[in-house]
Amino acid sequence: MDATTGTVDGVALVALAAREGTPLYVYSAPAIRGRVRALRDALAGLDAGIRYAVKANGNGAILQLLAAEGAGADIVSGGELQRALRAGIAAADIVFSGVGKTDVEIDAALAAGIGRFNVESRAELDAIQRIAAARGCTAVASVRINPDVDALTHAKISTGKAENKFGVPTDEARAWFDGAAQWPNLRLDGLHMHIGSQLLSLQPVREALQRMAAFWRELEAAGHAIASIDVGGGLGVRYRDGEVAPDAAEYAAAIREALAGFGGRILVEPGRWLVAEAGLLLTRVVLEKQGRARRFLVLDAGMNDLLRPSLYEAWHDIVRVGGDVGRERVAYDVVGPVCETGDTFARQRDMPRCDAGDLVAILGAGAYGASMASTYNSRPLAAEVLVEDGRYALIRKRQDFDAMIADERPANEWKSA
Ligand SMILES: *Cc1c(COP(=O)(O)O)cnc(C)c1O
Repeated sequence: MDATTGTVDGVALVALAAREGTPLYVYSAPAIRGRVRALRDALAGLDAGIRYAVKANGNGAILQLLAAEGAGADIVSGGELQRALRAGIAAADIVFSGVGKTDVEIDAALAAGIGRFNVESRAELDAIQRIAAARGCTAVASVRINPDVDALTHAKISTGKAENKFGVPTDEARAWFDGAAQWPNLRLDGLHMHIGSQLLSLQPVREALQRMAAFWRELEAAGHAIASIDVGGGLGVRYRDGEVAPDAAEYAAAIREALAGFGGRILVEPGRWLVAEAGLLLTRVVLEKQGRARRFLVLDAGMNDLLRPSLYEAWHDIVRVGGDVGRERVAYDVVGPVCETGDTFARQRDMPRCDAGDLVAILGAGAYGASMASTYNSRPLAAEVLVEDGRYALIRKRQDFDAMIADERPANEWKSA
């Protein structure tokens, strides 16, 4: 967003809010394209593929945009499988991660012919074997290794420590490779890791990559061919002034160094890094309220629209659309209308004084924003727009009340189970 003009890619936020209402998710197509191209360029020369983590932002238009740039998908549910396929992502370019894949989801993924499962437990191997055998097909799988490194990020988005539910230790993975004959409908020939999200330092990534590389060499020496190493996602972004996120070149250099000599395919699964900074949540000030101890800025967006501050104590820069010239500075607690104290976007935030009706942009909202939204407090899901070149496309219409309650039924038909 250009703060001085209040525009995104030539579209005025004031006009956009007048047309589409608030709260409104606004994504910049050029910004997303810029990121995916930067990553592609950084990985050039490697036999590498991008598998975008759909959970970061699964809007079909965003998926299509990324697919047009050559990205595949990293999915974690049957719903995400359908989203990816519907966006035109080739099944072969889809990898399926997650600790709790159900039989139905595994079957759907095999029916679609996805490229690879990232397997997280022996029970999952057995399930994939059983379902693949019933279908008479062979599933391709990587083992998700838990490298037991501290990703130096928020505990709720740290996934690579021994106490986390994700992946398996190398000892267990070794036993799977040695005993792979017991899963005849499974080709176990890959390694996978994903140590956490919003990583601002590459040091934990380097450490985990080194452990993965050592394990790959050990497996190859033992006669197990490794065709794919998936290094996961997790690349952090700049949510606040002064934060420095790793860039694509540095990240690619770390991968090149650790996996030098690897002859198979390398996969990366970025989510946040591709879309977070390309999006903002546009919201209107409902009112200002002077509490006994705090001054509150009450917005028409709430924790149901953007959960990250409540869930992770996450920081988002918040700017007044129209600027701050000539306005006194105020320390606001920026809150939503939801009936929870946790419905707080920022505490004691230094901002220009805002009036009721002003527009405020919550920045860095392109990832884990709309995709984590709910209708809590019976607040309909926000609309989403994609912006480019002075124009915008409505890529999700604002949910109306009827749509919000469409699946509810009165209890007038009783059945026995
Ligand atoms: C969530 C997730 C990602 C993406 O994480 P980001 O931090 O958004 O890059 C990648 N791989 C797996 C397995 C995930 O669960």
